[in-house]
Amino acid sequence: MIPDLEEAVVAIDGASRLAMACHIGPDGDAIGSMLALAVAATENGKEVFPSFGHPFTLPDTFDFLPTDMLVAPDEVPTEPEVMVTFDAGSPDRLGDLQGPADRAETLVVIDHHKTNQGFGKYNLIVPDAAATAEIVIELFDALGWEITPVAATALHVGLVTDTGRFQYSNTTPKTLRAAARMVEAGARPEVIGRHVYEETPFGFLHAAGAVLSRAVLESERRLVWSVLTVKDLNDSGIGLDDTDPLIDALRTAQESDVAVLLKDLGGGRIKGSMRSRGRIDVGAIAEPLGGGGHHNAAGFTVSGSVDSVMDAIRQRLEPVDA
Ligand code: 5GP
Ligand code: MN
Repeated sequence: MIPDLEEAVVAIDGASRLAMACHIGPDGDAIGSMLALAVAATENGKEVFPSFGHPFTLPDTFDFLPTDMLVAPDEVPTEPEVMVTFDAGSPDRLGDLQGPADRAETLVVIDHHKTNQGFGKYNLIVPDAAATAEIVIELFDALGWEITPVAATALHVGLVTDTGRFQYSNTTPKTLRAAARMVEAGARPEVIGRHVYEETPFGFLHAAGAVLSRAVLESERRLVWSVLTVKDLNDSGIGLDDTDPLIDALRTAQESDVAVLLKDLGGGRIKGSMRSRGRIDVGAIAEPLGGGGHHNAAGFTVSGSVDSVMDAIRQRLEPVDA
């Protein structure tokens, strides 16, 4: 049973306007979960303000979702009556929409990060859920809202992306049943798969080539890591939001248990992505760097150099016996 579900249903059902925010730099689960509820809320007569904090850009990957519903962060009511957040493990993950969330009369937090302390009035937090989308599906049922093909597609994107196409350890029978339901409701796996995994801008190939060619393997720590430079982005003509799949290429090195990709944001700031095969809790490594996430997928943004960040990570990765 989801905590606070009944209270959240009463709040959402009773609202005529709903502010919505997912975490900054949205992934498929964050944007898919939010857009699904936004579409359904509109169909149920509500005015919706779904958004995410700056930078307010999305990769083209998600263009097949109902992204025309999105409003810029400064168009979100500053003191909303009811606001819902998606896939954000802490308020700072909302970026410049943290203010409206703080001021919301009723804040509903929907999330599956086990580190989420529950920063809402009602907290629909289920750490065992593979994706926030899995929780949103139950919210639909509790609200009695129909899952249309458009909503099913958005929710399926959340399930597919957060489970790495149903192959990570968070994939449960419940996740697969939820996915089956989404396909029955009109989600098309081949269309979603093509948009999310089979299409990148051509420049991505060159950026990936640069990143993969400078990958370093530190066998004693079973660590593989690389850097994406500002020059890589300029040379390839892609944006930072097109670079999410890079970590998936890096992490395949079989000699590694942990993969780290450091993206140079310019101005001395670095965004890190970390992935684990299970032995190491990368969420616990990201946390002291001001970030967080899950056991097997985590991230952070820090000021510092590549060397200083890698040193901080190495300190928390014990060398293993060969
Ligand atoms: P990614 O590497 O794809 O950006 O993020 C992987 C996961 O790490 C996300 O799903 C999210 O749970 C978490 N994450 C990424 N960046 C941050 C961050 O800056 N702060 C926190 N708390 N979590 C992050
Ligand atoms: Mn998620």
